[in-house]
Amino acid sequence: MRESEIYDLLESYDFKTTRYVSFKMDEIPPIDFFPVVVKLESDKVVHKSDFGAVKLNINSYEQLEQAKSDIIANVTARGVVLDDEDRFIAVQMLSGIELYVGLVDDAIFAKTIVFGKGGIELELYKDVCYIDINAQDEEIVRAINLTTISKIFHGFRGFEYSIEMAVELIHCIQKFSRDNPQIVELDFNPVILTKSGLTVVDARIKKGEAALEKLGSLRKNRPHFFTNERLALIGASSDSTKVGYAIAHNALAFTGELFLVNAKGGELFGHRLYKSVSEIVGDIDTAVIMIPSHFVIETIRELILKNIKNIVIITAGFKESGDYESENAIANLAQTHNFNVIGPNCLGYLESSKKLNATFGTGGLRSGELALLSQSGAVLSALMDKAYDAGIGFSHLVSCGNMVDLDFAEMIDMLNREESCKYISIYAEGIKNGKEFLRAIRESSKKFYIFKTGKSAQSKKAAFSHTGNLSGNYAMFKGLMESVGAKIEDDIEALLFNPFNEVKNILVVTNAGGPASILVDYIVDQGATLHTFTPEELEALNAVLPANWSKNNPVDIIGDAMADRYEKTLEVVGKIQEVDLVYVIITPQCMTDTLNIVKLCELCEREGKQKVYPILLGGHEMEEAQRYLRSKQIPFFKTLQSATSFL
Ligand code: ADP
Ligand code: MG
Repeated sequence: MRESEIYDLLESYDFKTTRYVSFKMDEIPPIDFFPVVVKLESDKVVHKSDFGAVKLNINSYEQLEQAKSDIIANVTARGVVLDDEDRFIAVQMLSGIELYVGLVDDAIFAKTIVFGKGGIELELYKDVCYIDINAQDEEIVRAINLTTISKIFHGFRGFEYSIEMAVELIHCIQKFSRDNPQIVELDFNPVILTKSGLTVVDARIKKGEAALEKLGSLRKNRPHFFTNERLALIGASSDSTKVGYAIAHNALAFTGELFLVNAKGGELFGHRLYKSVSEIVGDIDTAVIMIPSHFVIETIRELILKNIKNIVIITAGFKESGDYESENAIANLAQTHNFNVIGPNCLGYLESSKKLNATFGTGGLRSGELALLSQSGAVLSALMDKAYDAGIGFSHLVSCGNMVDLDFAEMIDMLNREESCKYISIYAEGIKNGKEFLRAIRESSKKFYIFKTGKSAQSKKAAFSHTGNLSGNYAMFKGLMESVGAKIEDDIEALLFNPFNEVKNILVVTNAGGPASILVDYIVDQGATLHTFTPEELEALNAVLPANWSKNNPVDIIGDAMADRYEKTLEVVGKIQEVDLVYVIITPQCMTDTLNIVKLCELCEREGKQKVYPILLGGHEMEEAQRYLRSKQIPFFKTLQSATSFL
């Protein structure tokens, strides 16, 4: 489409465009809106400036003549052969701030708007945000505010532009895109921001087949995954080295009815071992399958006769080992008979409110308010272990495995109905239907924390070979997630710690200056704030500390500090209402009594409203204290960076 044709179309969608005239190569049109910009209007030249095909500040007919012949000479010199199809366009010249708005049709997120700093340096700065085509105002504003250029909407250097102007432009693009689904790429660069709004002065549009169709839609009327009262564990085993043993053992506390199935029959943990699913009387809500892969499909067929609602396939050896056929067969059965499948190739799931632990992760588990969904079983088991040490509990755990059926969006929709879950952390390797994923988060009342692999091309490949899923463009993923209010984590452990640390004001107590100043840098980098002492607070600390203490936050209580000095300091600090997190840095110096110091931290944490996190820097000197903290399930950190990753 020609630039002038696009302008005609845009006007009917309330976009602001300038005055323009399109004319033939040998023509000089009447113009009453000098100064103008003269450009070549030709399919043969995409980026006009690169070809010398844009002439700015044209004030007269003579200059127009000159501009035309210069442009012809420039493009001819670059090998372009012009013909009768090619034209010129003269556009009114505007002065203002150059912004950019575009539309892409992403393979994961489908139609997505890109907005940000425009002009010829667009790709250099990449100061853009991503906005879903269905985003409402709050989401649009949140996205725009993620860009650096958005400061011009908030009074930077006296600029007085309203962010509403940008939001209006996004609305126009949204409507335009909805009405014209055949448009798969759109590029308005620049749109010029002046007091009267945003005006499009360059426009390119590409038509094609939309990606949304390929994403497919979610299955309607699925059974709710978390209503299960009758549970069958298929492949429950008395061999303690088998997964079937571990899961049967972990699931014993289930408050519903538990049926253990093993072809050999017999008994396990005081439960009868049914020889087959068909021996169980009545329907089964949920089945956990832990038998060799070649028996899985026939077992599923038996379960269908039991009106099965949910199947968790622990068994591996499907897509990840090249068996796409069986995996597709499972997906088709799930679709036809309307049951949910989690896995295959997964670690199981946990539902705390029913005391149902159908996972084979090691170590203990506590119940809590966090639901954790993980596409990697190994990451999940590592986080489960870490969470236990740190006293963090879960409402739900889902090891997604190959994700043959239920996808993240559907799991989020289901968790949304679960009162016991307040926070949802997700470890994702590939998102299939980004549109639905965004929608589910947008509609959910829970808080989201997401870690996504595939930031670089290399790790993208690793993710592919691991679960066979595709990863999209990371910047787009991050931007879209942040626009719906999810927090994107750079550290896997932050998936555990972040939900419980809505920290505003931080205080640091330390026995060494160096680590404290590094910690302060990390805290500030994360956008958190350090508490500023009032004169009264300083006085209270002066009364208990040696004269040479730092008189500032971080509170450096000097290298010779023993437990008693930490104690007095923490007593004063504990009374400061505004402080909600205290880091206690302990470095090994010959007189440091680490074990007693961490015991104090435990006391403070229990009594006060503040969180107290010890950071134990060092090696073997710290081991005894670390063991103590683990045994008491008190969170602590071994590096300054990990201590701040969740802020
Ligand atoms: P292209 O992107 O194909 O190189 P543009 O039409 O965007 O061509 O023009 C190149 C640059 O010229 C723009 O990035 C902008 O800086 C400037 N420009 C183009 N049209 C106008 C206009 N109407 N008013 C002010 N500046 C303009
Ligand atoms: Mg341009």
